[in-house]
Amino acid sequence: MNPKYPKRLQMAHLPTPVEKMARLSQHLGGPEIYIKRDDLTGLATGGNKTRKLEFLVAEAMAHQCDYLVTVGGPQSNHCRQTAAAAARYGLGCALVLSGDPPPAKYGNLLLDELLGAELHWAGQLTRPERMVEVVSQLQTRGHKPYPIPLGGSNVIGATGYVLAMQELAGQLSQLELQPDFIIFASSSGGTQAGIVLGAQLFGCEGQILGISIDHPADELQIQVAALATATATHLDVASVLVADRVKVNDDYLGEGYAIVSDLERDAIRLTARLEGILLDPVYTGRAMGGLIDLIQWGALTKNQKVLFWHTGGTAALSAFSEELT
Ligand SMILES: *Cc1c(COP(=O)(O)O)cnc(C)c1O
Repeated sequence: MNPKYPKRLQMAHLPTPVEKMARLSQHLGGPEIYIKRDDLTGLATGGNKTRKLEFLVAEAMAHQCDYLVTVGGPQSNHCRQTAAAAARYGLGCALVLSGDPPPAKYGNLLLDELLGAELHWAGQLTRPERMVEVVSQLQTRGHKPYPIPLGGSNVIGATGYVLAMQELAGQLSQLELQPDFIIFASSSGGTQAGIVLGAQLFGCEGQILGISIDHPADELQIQVAALATATATHLDVASVLVADRVKVNDDYLGEGYAIVSDLERDAIRLTARLEGILLDPVYTGRAMGGLIDLIQWGALTKNQKVLFWHTGGTAALSAFSEELT
């Protein structure tokens, strides 16, 4: 039963490499750690949103939309990548960002501006409320906006990660590698939904574990399972048991979204200094911090193999210089 994929643009540099993290594995005295480099997808640096936007922007253009509109935090990677995709296809881009403008633009916010996106601050409103206003203003100006949900996490966006899992399954079989765990940062759920469904479709046995960035595990699990099931329906494939494979760990929420603690700082520094690989302060730093902690607690043993899926975000690093140094 082959999935019926919707229209897709080719923006990402694929396949992204799978590499062994030899020095980190040795340092931790734990399982063999591999890394899937979706920080290298391209599109104004890179990250997991590139794969989602290949499908989202294709749909926007198929519907003759001329503006991409989306939402996020001030350091949203998804917003930066949406701005880049809009620029690349000659579309307008309106970003709805939480809160009020900071005194200076760093990290992703600087890139949003360089990429030509319009910035709309939500202030006291919620982002969805502000998004409704922005969409209707664009319509009044005669545009046809294409609204993209938080993180690009709907059935269209998640499809990008179904294909990513197909790509990874091919790489793993070439490397004759069967990871016991696939671990990554999970937040709006589209990445995990796609990976879980892809694992089901393309036969990947290992345990798939999302490290929650900002939601209680039970909430995120329900959200991811629902999205994985809806994506299966959208692609016209069966989704038997897919919901059962959705596992989320919420032990590393710390003080909340984008609040950097020792966990992220130590993981970022260790990975940088042992592997020359940059993680980000909000997502991959937290997920790698979680992975390292799980290894230290003995949840993953020496003879196991684990694949860490790098989802990008390094463009935010400079905005967190105080917290990271
Ligand atoms: C958006 C994002 C995630 C989370 O992906 P979801 O599909 O929203 O769960 C993880 N890492 C980085 C760097 C991101 O930008």
